[in-house]
Formats: sequence, structure tokens, C-alpha cells
Amino acid sequence: MTHILIVEDEAKLARLQADYLHSAGFVTDCLDDGLSVVPWLKQNAVDLILLDLMLPGRDGLDICRDIRSFSAVPIIIVTARIEEVDRLLGLELGADDYMCKPFSPREMVARVKAVLRRLQPPAVINGSDGQLSLDPESFRVRIDGRETELTAVEFQLLQALYHQPGRIFSRSKLMDLIYQDQRIVSDRTIDSHIKKLRKKLSELSPEHELIHSVYGAGYRYEPQAQAG
Ligand code: CA
Repeated sequence: MTHILIVEDEAKLARLQADYLHSAGFVTDCLDDGLSVVPWLKQNAVDLILLDLMLPGRDGLDICRDIRSFSAVPIIIVTARIEEVDRLLGLELGADDYMCKPFSPREMVARVKAVLRRLQPPAVINGSDGQLSLDPESFRVRIDGRETELTAVEFQLLQALYHQPGRIFSRSKLMDLIYQDQRIVSDRTIDSHIKKLRKKLSELSPEHELIHSVYGAGYRYEPQAQAG
């Protein structure tokens, strides 16, 4: 059962969301104030959160940042103002998608499904036989029987991208992930690590480009299940 947490203080809207999600086969829980979200999440496991921004007690942005400090659970932010989305994207909250009110409940269900599908870790990258696996002990990556050794940084980059396929990671996000001691590094450093990583991956899997650069935004991992 896929479990969705609805954080919404408008009772009518929360009920509507819950109804549609139930019809689509999801299990839901609802919270209507900002302060209870993080404590609740520390006690309960969920597969996705629909997070309203304007909440009594605590702001949704603040909650989102806090959740990201301990969990990678998918988050869809719900905002009442469409013009706010650009600003939100710039804040790099780590949310997986954004939805503006008013939204159709059908669209909401479609977005929830799309985010869940996108974040499913791919076991298979190339039809039935192309398998990618990562060994965190030795920093080795194996694709379809061939393997190579990565540096610690390359391994961490690949691991981050691989576990959230389709998600765009900005350079600064990747820097945060791999340089936890806050060393000063430049965007160029990330680019050069990614370049070396892509070269190694292309030797293992010449016919597929697994790491894509997204102009002006960053990088994403894309399994190519039906290519080849
Ligand atoms: Ca609200």
C-alpha cells in the first residue's frame, strides 16, 4: 500500500484530496497544522507528502527544509499562487514537484503517480539484461557484466543521481551532497567530476548516455529502459 500524507489546513480541500487518492488506491493521513508535521514524520513512514505552504503554526517552506535534513521522501508542494513557483524553484527546497491551487483532483492524482514513478529506483537500465549496480564498499559500478572503479566523489555523485532518476540536481545541490565538510569548491569542480564519471560510464555502456546535463540547471540520471 502506498501511503500519502496530506498536509492541508482547509478541511474541505483535504477531504477532497483524500477521497480522490483513496479512489486511486492510496492510503492517506491528514495533518492540518504546521507544527505537527515533522514530529509526526519521525514516528510514521510515508511514501509521499502533499505539502501546503500556508499553514497555521509553521510555514511549509520551513517544514520542507526541515524534512530534507533527515528524509528523502518525495514532496509535492502546494501553493495558492502560481507566480510563486519560480521563486520556490530558485530556493532549491528539495521538493519534487509543485502544484498550484486551484487544481483538479485528477491532476493531483496524476502528479502523485508521476512523482512516485520517477523516483522508483531502476533495477534495469537496458531491456532485460542491462543491469547497473553500485558497490559502496569498493566504489565500483557494474553495468551489464562490465565494471569499473570510481573515485569516492564520482561514486557519491552517481549514487545521488541514480537513486532519484529523472530528478534534476543543480550543481550546488550536488556540492552539498558530496562536500559535507563545507570545503569551498566551484561549480567547475562538479563539472569536471561529472565529466570523468560520464567517461567511465560510457566505457561500460557506450550506447547509453546515463547522465544528462540540463542546460542552466544541472544534471540528471536517466535510465534508458527501452533504448538500444
Ligand atoms: Ca493553507
